[in-house]
Amino acid sequence: MKHGLKPNAAQAKIYVAIDTHDLDQVLYLTRTLINTQTQGKIGLKLGMRFFYANGPKGVEAVKSVAGENTSIFLDLKFHDIPFTVAGAVEAVAPLDIDYINVHATGGRAMMEAAAEAAAKFGRKAPDILAVTVLTSMDEAALAELGVNEGPQSMVERLAKLAKDSGMKGVVCSAKEVESLRKSCGKDFILMVPGIRPKGSAKDDQKRVMTPQEAIKVGATHLVIGRPILKADHPAQAALDILKSCK
Ligand code: C5P
Repeated sequence: MKHGLKPNAAQAKIYVAIDTHDLDQVLYLTRTLINTQTQGKIGLKLGMRFFYANGPKGVEAVKSVAGENTSIFLDLKFHDIPFTVAGAVEAVAPLDIDYINVHATGGRAMMEAAAEAAAKFGRKAPDILAVTVLTSMDEAALAELGVNEGPQSMVERLAKLAKDSGMKGVVCSAKEVESLRKSCGKDFILMVPGIRPKGSAKDDQKRVMTPQEAIKVGATHLVIGRPILKADHPAQAALDILKSCK
């Protein structure tokens, strides 16, 4: 249900990251998470590990368990020549999912081609987000690619390019939210992982923010995995986080 889950300044949306290739496990987690109380309130993020193993049929299977009004973010990070990325967008758009993404480093022509391909699907078109700089890349890794610019300024630059090229938002780390909200305006989607409710384990995340902090500085969508998936009652944990964000 795309339009029920549009970003709204008053309340960010939660996407639970389910990153595994095992369809049975994903369907089990979906059943655990989506019930009459959570349906339509939380979304699911499915990644490339899931999609490469299970394909469009896997997404359809998740949708049939989660229900039509569960929002899906298909995190496949397209990056290829414009023609191929446009084709990839056309291939997944009929799945009627809310968000897909591309690498901003594919450039303006690639992002514009992706936006144009999505637009053909009218109201059912997925919103396309851009990945700017992977959080696994630091200054040294960028220098090795010939980029003589720090990650922070590259993120800013690529987010502006993404917006200019028709992307509806970016996936960004908690530490980038505040400045991107200022530079990209109030309607730009900021989908933010690395979120930890107060008191929960950081796991392998280095810089984390609570859901409330992230929303305060401008996040519209939160990607949360382990704090929900590892809870004794995942659906309740998700509801508690939602409640705490109001
Ligand atoms: O379990 P956790 O809440 O850390 O999961 C966060 C999800 O967001 C994982 O699927 C992770 O791969 C993804 N992610 C991230 N940091 C990024 C980009 C994506 O944690 N910079």
